[in-house]
Order: sequence, then structure tokens, then C-alpha cells
Amino acid sequence: MKKISVFGEINLKDNKIEQVSFELISKAKSLAFEAEKLKQGVNYLVEAVFIASYLVDDEIKKAYKAGADRVVLIKDSVFDEFYSTVYANAFLEYFEKKPSEVLLFPATIKGRAVAPRVTVQLDTGLVADCTEAEFILKNDNLFFAPTRPTFGSELMATILSKKMPYCATIRPGVFKSEFKYQDSGEFEEYIPVSYHEDRIKLISSNSEKNRESVDFSSAKVVLCGGYGLCENKSDEYYKKLKKIAKITDSNFAVTRKVVDFNLAESKYQIGQTGSSTQPKLYVAFGVSGAIQHIQGMKNSKTIVGINIDENADIFKYCDYKIVADAKKVIDDLLDYFDIKQ
Ligand SMILES: Cc1cc2nc3c(=O)[nH]c(=O)nc-3n(C[C@H](O)[C@H](O)[C@H](O)COP(=O)(O)OP(=O)(O)OC[C@H]3O[C@@H](n4cnc5c(N)ncnc54)[C@H](O)[C@@H]3O)c2cc1C
Repeated sequence: MKKISVFGEINLKDNKIEQVSFELISKAKSLAFEAEKLKQGVNYLVEAVFIASYLVDDEIKKAYKAGADRVVLIKDSVFDEFYSTVYANAFLEYFEKKPSEVLLFPATIKGRAVAPRVTVQLDTGLVADCTEAEFILKNDNLFFAPTRPTFGSELMATILSKKMPYCATIRPGVFKSEFKYQDSGEFEEYIPVSYHEDRIKLISSNSEKNRESVDFSSAKVVLCGGYGLCENKSDEYYKKLKKIAKITDSNFAVTRKVVDFNLAESKYQIGQTGSSTQPKLYVAFGVSGAIQHIQGMKNSKTIVGINIDENADIFKYCDYKIVADAKKVIDDLLDYFDIKQ
């Protein structure tokens, strides 16, 4: 049977599966269904491959639930530290015994370090940083067709590889994880025999406690301020929106233009060159709806746009369209929550 394999990422602090792995597994599952629909008789098995010293049953169950038909644990205590070539070689060793047609890697620091090391050894191509992926039927042949931004994010390019396996890295937060599949599946523990030592040695590590970042992956409600909130180059309305976000237990976010004009920090930026998010509710205050911004939030469950221009592009993506002055809406909300301005 044909396989789609996902390089599953694990948090080495607690050996829990990272959210992005579930997103890729669920996407692989929907790709498998898509392939079956496109071509009769084609069956793809979804395989999640984890490299770790251990993985508890509850985590493995979550992988099945997200869509994996088969979970593989490439196991050794050496994997308690992340070394890209050690991981890549272990993955390759397993892969040479059980090849797949499609390999999906997360576009994370680890995924981006392992994927090219694997694909160069397999002498195949790698489509990096994809934001979409599908199967297409061409001359009765199925092709994996990932899409990624190109020409400085001005265009989206769908790239067909001439060689197999088809490989891609996919950005976190782009696809939804759906825990709606089976509770169990196949399991294999694989002990690698020939992985090589890394030429890089870890001498010491410092956790980056002081480095601030915003985790949008588990956000429930995101309130995003666009450049439409800017008044006389002041950040007043972004601060106000931040207060509302705080009191409503929401995440504050902005567009890149707001960051470019130094009105908010880049860690809050949503979009192609910022974070991706898929909350239950995304409210865009004075956001025009540029494609690079949409890429980062289009999978939100409910999207509300507040814009003074009734023809603003953002409304094409909205479930609720509010033609209004977003600053007035913010001031009214502050009054409603009785927050001193
Ligand atoms: C390579 C590249 C990468 C990029 N990456 C990103 C990215 O990751 N994220 C991102 O966001 N952008 C990104 N951009 C920028 C993107 O193309 C847009 O320029 C940007 O998203 C526009 O931000 P905006 O909607 O806040 O501002 P604008 O486009 O200026 O829109 C402001 C909107 O506010 C409305 N408005 C004005 N006043 C009010 C008011 N009082 N009340 C309500 N509405 C009002 C206007 O009608 C308008 O629609 C990228 C661009 C490039 C070239």
C-alpha cells in the first residue's frame, strides 16, 4: 500500500507531540481521502514517524485520533538531544526499509533542519514552507501538488516534483488538527542500527527565558489591529485594543504594516511572514485583507471584519461584515467593559 509519512515533532522537554505534528497528520489523512476520490483503487496509508527515546500511549493515541493509521517510533536514548544529522540518518534508515510516496515535515526549526538532509540523500526535491497541498490528476497519474508563496510572497506557486518521494515542509498553524479519527492503529518500534554521530557537539544549553514570543497556536479569540487604527502616527488604539484583549482573555495581534510603522512589536504579527493562527473567532479592526495577511488567519472558524470601506478585501473572507469606524467600536467596547481610557 502507498504511504504518506509525516515527520512528527516532539517536545524534548516532556516528550509530548507538538501541535504542528497533529496538523500535518490530519492534513495527510485528508490528502489520502482526496487521492482515493481522484483515482479509483488508490489507497494511501497515513504514517506518523516520531524520533524519540520514548512516547507514552496517550500521545500515540492522539496521533491515531488525528488521522494516523500507523505510528512508528524510531527509538534510542541518543534522541533526547536534537542533532539534525542524527535525526535525519535515523529517519533515512527507516525510510529505506519502508519507503513512502509523500513525506511531510513541519516547517519548524527541527523540521527545516532534518528535511533537506533527508531529501538530498534521497536525491529528490523539497518544496519548502508550503501553505497549501493537494493531489491532482494529470494524464491519469496522481501528483502531490504543494503550494508556496514566491516572488516575495507576491504570487503563490504550485510546484510538481519530477521525482519521488514528493517532499514538503509545511508551516505550523496552516492546517487544522482534527481529532476525529480512530482510537488505535498499527504501531512499530524501530531501533536504528547505523545512524552516524553528528559533527556538531552540544557543549551547553541556555533556555531562552527572556525571549518573548506569542503562541498563537492555541488562541481561542484573536483581536487584530490593522493600519486603519493608526491616528497621527500614534499607537493609542493598538494599546486600547491590547487592553480589550487582556480583559476578554483574547490574543492581541497586528498586521505587518502596523509593525513596519513601529506601532507594535513584530511578535504580534499575523500572516505570511508572521505567525499563523486558527482561533474560534478572529476580529479584524481596520485590516484591508492583503493576501499575505489572509494566509495567516484564513483558517479561523469565524471571521469578523470591521472596516470603514464597504469594498475592503477583508470582507471577502468574513462571516460577519461590519462597515464602521473601528476606533469608535474600540472606544465603545472600552466603555462597555468600563475600562478607563
Ligand atoms: C513579502 C511580503 C510579506 C508580507 N507579509 C505580511 C504578513 O505576514 N502579515 C501582514 O499583515 N502583511 C504582510 N505583508 C503586507 C501586506 O501586503 C499589506 O501591506 C498589509 O497586510 C496591510 O496592512 P493593513 O491591512 O493593516 O493596512 P492597509 O492596507 O493600509 O489597510 C488599512 C485598512 O483600514 C481601513 N480603515 C481605515 N481607517 C479605518 C477606521 N477608522 N475604521 C475601520 N477601518 C479603517 C481601510 O479602509 C483599509 O482597508 C507582506 C507584504 C509582502 C510584500
